[in-house]
Amino acid sequence: MRPRADAAVVGAGPAGLMAAAYLAFRGFDVVVFEEDAIIGRPERCAGLYSLWGLKALRIPADGPYLQNRVMGAVFTSPSGESFTVKAPSEVAVVCNRERFDQYLAEKALDNGATIYLGVHVRDIHRRDGGYVLDTGAGQVEASYLLVAEGRKAHIARRIYPGYRLGPWIPIIQYQVAGHGQDPDLVYLYFTRYLPDFFAYLVPVDGDVGKLGVAAVKNTWALSLRFLREYFPGARILGVSSSSVYVGPPLPDPKIGNAFLLGDVAGQVKATTGGGVVYGGLYALAAARHIAGMADFYSTVKPLQRELENTYLLRRLVSRIGPAMLDTLFRSVGESGMAERLGRLGNMERHHNTLLRSLLHPSATLLALHLIKNYLQAILKS
Ligand SMILES: Cc1cc2nc3c(=O)[nH]c(=O)nc-3n(C[C@H](O)[C@H](O)[C@H](O)COP(=O)(O)OP(=O)(O)OC[C@H]3O[C@@H](n4cnc5c(N)ncnc54)[C@H](O)[C@@H]3O)c2cc1C
Repeated sequence: MRPRADAAVVGAGPAGLMAAAYLAFRGFDVVVFEEDAIIGRPERCAGLYSLWGLKALRIPADGPYLQNRVMGAVFTSPSGESFTVKAPSEVAVVCNRERFDQYLAEKALDNGATIYLGVHVRDIHRRDGGYVLDTGAGQVEASYLLVAEGRKAHIARRIYPGYRLGPWIPIIQYQVAGHGQDPDLVYLYFTRYLPDFFAYLVPVDGDVGKLGVAAVKNTWALSLRFLREYFPGARILGVSSSSVYVGPPLPDPKIGNAFLLGDVAGQVKATTGGGVVYGGLYALAAARHIAGMADFYSTVKPLQRELENTYLLRRLVSRIGPAMLDTLFRSVGESGMAERLGRLGNMERHHNTLLRSLLHPSATLLALHLIKNYLQAILKS
């Protein structure tokens, strides 16, 4: 193992690999440490990334990881009210996450980075303004440190004073066959017995899909109940368990020449737990800063604001009870708001999309439908 590098990256997930590829491209001597033996495995991701996000990350949508393209989403309320947000053209791709990470690793290697697989970074300390990483295979010194270790946060806790993130929710993701839904759309299910999050189906094609169920308690039992009730004919091909982050981003992900990137810094949309695009945007911002191309804080300021507001939006939505969700979903469908969301929406910018939709004059129509449906629900009960 080399004793010195310009930059050391802990974790070969998407955030670490994107930062490594950029820095190596700019001529930096970069080493990446990944404790798993195979990049991208085990696969714990639905692999749904917006075209907007991939473009911002300069990652081709049609790489070897591409599984499907989608145009929008169907939202279903606890009592089965649903509305569809469909864009005029494709808005996102479904990717094989293992191949996606491996593509990023190949890019980093092609640019000159070194990736050590099966090497766990055990500890870290500061020396002469730089960092010394203590790995299972020896010590390495680096001027810059990029911590992209995901949920474990072992190194983050060592270098970040008072490191603390918000909540994570356990999630079970099944690979299923026979889902029987339109493969052009993804599906979000809000149910009474999954009050902490939603369940989703991300189709790979008309038959196979990734079906996720998140819940704070009894996740396994509830996921099987969901499968039984919503997809009785589906066959389980595979299953994985993990967690998604649903809190706010870490207030300041930079300390000295160290950057916390991706899930370890809560750079995730709290509404969906999706973090590949935001983690990547922060990773590129850190790499550009190190390369002297752009100031880190100026670049991440709008990202930080959007993630903080998305977290507030999640808190708001989590306070809406099942009956109100039914009323809301019916009203969004009836008022034409769903079609407008399809035209205006950006699936990476939930808070921004909501604001723009509510400031649109036609939001008045939604308000009227809400009042009507709310009164009808009261009269019925
Ligand atoms: C079921 C599920 C579905 C999801 N679906 C989506 C989706 O559709 N779209 C989306 O955008 N996001 C999705 N996400 C979230 C997404 O997977 C994460 O946001 C993303 O993986 C974060 O990337 P990262 O690089 O920060 O961390 P990770 O991908 O977690 O990578 C961290 C890496 O660091 C390594 N590591 C940790 N500690 C050490 C150490 N000490 N030494 C060496 N290596 C170490 C780990 O082995 C790991 O490979 C989903 C998550 C789950 C659980």
